[in-house]
Amino acid sequence: MESKRVGVIGGGQLAWMMGEAAEKLGIELLVQTPSKHDPAVSRAVETILAPVDDAVATAKLANLCDVITFENEFINLPELQLLSQKGVCFRPSIDNLAPLLDKYNQRCYLQEIGLPVPRFTTISSASENLSPYSFPVVLKARRHGYDGQGTFILPDQVSLEQTWQSLQQPKMLLEEFIPFEKELAVIAARNVSGEITIYPVVETYQKNQVCRWVIAPADLSTQVQSKVNAIARTLLSQLQFVGVLGIELFLTEQEEVLVNEIAPRTHNSGHYTLDACYTSQFEMQLRAVTDMTLGSPNLKFPGAVMVNLLGYEYSHHDYQDKLAEIATIPEAHIHWYGKKESRPGRKLGHVTVLLSEAERQLGQKLSQKIESIWYESSN
Ligand code: ADP
Repeated sequence: MESKRVGVIGGGQLAWMMGEAAEKLGIELLVQTPSKHDPAVSRAVETILAPVDDAVATAKLANLCDVITFENEFINLPELQLLSQKGVCFRPSIDNLAPLLDKYNQRCYLQEIGLPVPRFTTISSASENLSPYSFPVVLKARRHGYDGQGTFILPDQVSLEQTWQSLQQPKMLLEEFIPFEKELAVIAARNVSGEITIYPVVETYQKNQVCRWVIAPADLSTQVQSKVNAIARTLLSQLQFVGVLGIELFLTEQEEVLVNEIAPRTHNSGHYTLDACYTSQFEMQLRAVTDMTLGSPNLKFPGAVMVNLLGYEYSHHDYQDKLAEIATIPEAHIHWYGKKESRPGRKLGHVTVLLSEAERQLGQKLSQKIESIWYESSN
């Protein structure tokens, strides 16, 4: 029998967008999130107001629903492991999540299953001998990094030592800097019965380590597309993963594909699926974790561009004027998360513009147009 009450750990915009899909599928969504102002609260049938790493709250959530899934990974793994042993149904399972939460462990796991990754190590002081690495190097917090927070591209030893001092962490991930040609991403899903589906590969653009826009589909050779698809398939099968995951990749000039990071949940690079695909990534996650057949991941339109609307000031503004101006762009679909407060870098919403065949090359131009409206007064 299909599960009809799904609990989500996290109540941000990802759970909020899942809420719309839940209504469509006749699923009741419950969330565990710290604030009653968090976006998904308005779309949940019940909310447990608690931090996402509060396992006592998760035990309460478990009593109210058939299956628990995730919208972020800032969880307390050992405590959830205990709940899982007591019979709480997590999808993805705690075993699925265990190798992925710490960036260094994730890299080790990806390498173990034969996937290509940048050269990496873990360091416990800035004065360690870094050979064979040469500057620039990339230093990353092993846990709790997001939207580029916790990721540092460092040009020299002095900046490495300064950054290390300011972070005060016992161990960090250190890796080679990849002078990539493009950044790519793909969303893939697997349901309880083992059915796998993979969305089109997209191109993503990050500024200061934060995603600014996504173009679907990416303009790639079929060889690169099949490499990415093979990576997604290997990962889902090796993990016996249940749910949706986002894979971030680097494409080098030599058409080598390297995995940067796995997010074991819906992902910003898949927001375009809401308007542009037959099945959104949010509906896909609900289908996967309730063991429904997976829908089609295909594009309904020749292409799409998704632009993040990031906060650029501290404010309580609702930005209605700017949103109205963006809405005049033909085929623009705005998703505004209703957050009460804007902060620099905070994801406040996104806009997806659907592209006809003739407009497929215009993705970047449109992203510039949207960004010039959005960031107009911030420069
Ligand atoms: P987060 O988990 O915060 O998204 P990521 O590890 O994905 O952090 O890094 C954010 C961005 O930083 C990437 O999208 C990329 O632009 C840049 N970056 C990360 N690692 C490397 C690397 N090894 N070489 C070059 N750029 C990198």
